[in-house]
Amino acid sequence: MTLIDVKKHHHLLPATPRVNKALIGGTWHESGEWMERSSPAHEIPVSKTVAGTAAMVDQAVAAARAAFDGTSWKRLYAGERAAILGKAAELIRARAEELALWDVLESGKPISQALDEVAGAADLWDYAAALTRTLTGESHNTLGPDTLAMVLHEPVGVVGIITPWNFPFLIISQKLPYALAAGCAVVMKPSEFTPSSTTILCEILAAAGLPDGVVNMVPGTGDPVGAALTAHGGVDMISFTGSTAVGKATVAASAGNLKKVSAELGGKNPAIVFADADLDEAADALVMGAVFNAGQCCVGSSRLLVEKPVAEAFTAKVVDLMTHLRVGDPLDEATQIGPIVNARQHHRIMQYIETGNRKARLRTQAPETAAQGLFVYPHVFDRVSPGMDLARDEIFGPVLSVIEFSGVDEAVRIANDTSYGLSSAVWTGSVDTALRMVRGIEAGTVWVNTYLEGPAELPFGGFKQSGLGRENGKAAIEEYTELKTVVLRTGPRPARYVQLR
Ligand code: NAD
Repeated sequence: MTLIDVKKHHHLLPATPRVNKALIGGTWHESGEWMERSSPAHEIPVSKTVAGTAAMVDQAVAAARAAFDGTSWKRLYAGERAAILGKAAELIRARAEELALWDVLESGKPISQALDEVAGAADLWDYAAALTRTLTGESHNTLGPDTLAMVLHEPVGVVGIITPWNFPFLIISQKLPYALAAGCAVVMKPSEFTPSSTTILCEILAAAGLPDGVVNMVPGTGDPVGAALTAHGGVDMISFTGSTAVGKATVAASAGNLKKVSAELGGKNPAIVFADADLDEAADALVMGAVFNAGQCCVGSSRLLVEKPVAEAFTAKVVDLMTHLRVGDPLDEATQIGPIVNARQHHRIMQYIETGNRKARLRTQAPETAAQGLFVYPHVFDRVSPGMDLARDEIFGPVLSVIEFSGVDEAVRIANDTSYGLSSAVWTGSVDTALRMVRGIEAGTVWVNTYLEGPAELPFGGFKQSGLGRENGKAAIEEYTELKTVVLRTGPRPARYVQLR
């Protein structure tokens, strides 16, 4: 493993912390309380953000409601809404380096990856812009001589959007453009660890011509801000991405006014390698899947299921590739693995590694001069059995657990032996094996002989406790709508209900 000097790029660090405020009805607000964020790689303060309050959530929901009920946004010609979203995509591209830099400074993700994420996010804004004109509903001219019917998509109303720290700009872009495309108004709350790129997005939207109040942002912690938003009677829908535990709390809090909830939650994703696979390709892709974003990735390949005859050889390949990874300063373009986002997550991962050391066999070794602080070197454990915590819990770090299996049936059984169902990957040279696995696996995505491909056109979401609803793809805009059925009688009704005596 190559170590990179974490001091080399200090000139990219801000001289003074960036200041982020709350945006309510088109104006920036302070609460008097601030949250300071330090770069997890460089351990110096990089941003200072307003700690939002429940009262601010009330004001932001009122501003969103006024913008929504004012009808000018929701009844705007779809082509005009599309133009604003398209302009936002253009401005995102123009400010890509700045957006990526802030995600690096606050989350610790490598700069090359952050730039890719911002480019992918801009594409989502373009895609949502195109979808804006597709909400055409249905017409029914087949219901008999005197009946005509329509099914209209109406925007669901005021949407609360809550996002996590692991892909700050990408995840807000999997939600916000679709909500806007549908004609909704929004109150968003970025993660308390990564508020800056979402704040810059507010500036971009204003410059793109979005009317004041259509998008509001209240930064802050889960409690009070997230909790106030999910429980708020003036919010019609919550779109949440984060942990399954908080996702469940969100669903419970939404019960007060029976909000619609869409939730993208955790995963314990199986990557299944059969003996007839291209083992070199599979090893490379699955190492990437295991360490991408330092393993803090909901679709990471954290469970490696390998068919017995090739288990030893394949694990050895994976371990060897891990030794070539570049761990270090996320501001260096060559870095592949940056630090863990914060001390709490770091501690949690180290506890899993400690338990793993007692119960399974560690195959990797950290270099003697391992970087200190919040960095975690990739760990591969084999001799993992499906009942161990290593095989069941979402560790959210660069920790890969190897489980051996024999044949398709056992592979399906182990793959599905989890409360999650977000993504999966199958590596095989056999079409039959691939299709039997595709049909057997309970997960929102099955990658076959590839990993982590996710173009805007394809829906994304989870089975079981990995979530509710889908993002991206054609249906993404429909998530933010309610159907309204309209039935028109064009002639006399068939019979009178009340018989006059
Ligand atoms: P988290 O659940 O701790 O926090 C997510 C967001 O919820 C943050 O903005 C947080 O402030 C807020 N929050 C916390 N408590 C809340 C409450 N009581 N009410 C409302 N909001 C509250 O998750 P995290 O640590 O930021 O992110 C990591 C988790 O996110 C992982 O479990 C990961 O799998 C999941 N994730 C899922 C996807 C997906 O698309 N399925 C994508 C990325 C991350």
